[in-house]
Amino acid sequence: MKDWLRREPIVIASGRGAVLRDVRGREYLDANSSIWTNLHGHRHPKLNAAIQRQLGKISHSSALGLANEPACLLAEKLLSVANISSRRGNEADHAHPIPQSAIRNPQLTKAFFSDDGSTALEVALKLAYEFTRRTRGRKSKPRFLSLTGGYHGDTVGAVSLGHINLFHKAYAGLLFKTDRVMAPYCYRCPFNRAKPERADARTYRKCNWECVGKVERALITQKKKRGEPYAAFVFEPLIQGAGGMIPQPSGWLQQVTDLARGQGTLLIADEVMTGFGRTGTAQLETQNSKPKTLFACQQEGVRSDFLCLAKGLTGGYLPMAATLTTQAVFDAFLGEYGDFKTFFHGHSYTANQLGAAAALANLDILRSPACIVARARLQRALHNQLETLWTLPNVGDIRQVGLIAGIELVKDWRTREPFDLRDRAGIRVCEAMARRGVLTRPIGNVIVLMPPYCTTPAQLEKMVTALTESVREIFGC
Ligand code: PMP
Repeated sequence: MKDWLRREPIVIASGRGAVLRDVRGREYLDANSSIWTNLHGHRHPKLNAAIQRQLGKISHSSALGLANEPACLLAEKLLSVANISSRRGNEADHAHPIPQSAIRNPQLTKAFFSDDGSTALEVALKLAYEFTRRTRGRKSKPRFLSLTGGYHGDTVGAVSLGHINLFHKAYAGLLFKTDRVMAPYCYRCPFNRAKPERADARTYRKCNWECVGKVERALITQKKKRGEPYAAFVFEPLIQGAGGMIPQPSGWLQQVTDLARGQGTLLIADEVMTGFGRTGTAQLETQNSKPKTLFACQQEGVRSDFLCLAKGLTGGYLPMAATLTTQAVFDAFLGEYGDFKTFFHGHSYTANQLGAAAALANLDILRSPACIVARARLQRALHNQLETLWTLPNVGDIRQVGLIAGIELVKDWRTREPFDLRDRAGIRVCEAMARRGVLTRPIGNVIVLMPPYCTTPAQLEKMVTALTESVREIFGC
């Protein structure tokens, strides 16, 4: 904190597109989309207009015991985009009580609104916990499995699922026990026998999918040791964010989620960062149409029992979140008043109308052909720009998934030796980038580039040039 107090802060006054302007009139590029929230840039005319239209009607009324129009429409639209049939797409009919076979490919039919990524996870966690007890019996002791380097938010339930020592260890005494299993991290994987190359470590790894084997063993051990499977497996699909922008090799997600399902474990997909086109847009082949994906899970043909969304839900305008789930979960909380089966959870601003109006406009923009084409172009341009960074000896790994990039800085790419966190390597590089008019936040030694979808080729080039020059300045290379 002392370093923050030592410096004059950058005080943001306004923004337009990918540009932020501070109170002194200085302009910066928003190279991490305002901590991964913004999608289409600042002051987008369609998003502004949608919020203004809603302001003319009502800003907020409670959703406890009431409903409202934009939130209902949003639930319907979110469910329809989340259910786009995937490669494996058989939908099962969910009767209550739930046969195991029904849990394999659930259709998402219900949305629960809350405020941010952390609350979206808390909702999934509580629903999965109680669903498990109600379907397995009161003697069940629901337990959760999540990933090394996983991050799911800063509230106590979400922290219990997280496994990043720097953020989470201090609160160990406050947390409930969850199990942790190895996540893929090809660049630093103890099972990867490949020597460092000038390429994304996923592409030249030499291993036998030991990371999948670890998940399988964890699932089997739980069942053997405790007599019941995990209640749920919680994961960030395709790429872990706060853990250091750590992507999974293609196929990992499908394999481990199949294994979890095979054991009767529910899936909680945390798409708080990865949702809404961030990980790229794939075209799926279905019988009648060729819909485009908006979520990371869809790219691996995975449909979870809980899909947690926030950040980009409103295009990065307003704090709002959604936890999508299945009919089976909903039904487990359905009963007569006196049964008290209700899900007793409700935030004051649940289903806020302004947020819902922004989210509806956001979905329209996201699904427009112009936006789909622009995202694909930006993704290719980002790839080409990132390639130029391999000339820097302090760049060890460059990890791109769609419109997310993590650049891991090391002392020397040949040895992969990391900088001590106390060296503040990532922070110093980002400070140098800010002096060049580009704002982003590092995760330890990893520099994050996550441009808004409206970023122009010239702006993208400026982001990467600022990074190149800053690495050269800080490390003298
Ligand atoms: N899950 C993931 C994957 C995240 O990246 C974050 C935030 N960085 C959260 C959950 C928590 O979201 P919020 O900060 O909106 O509570």
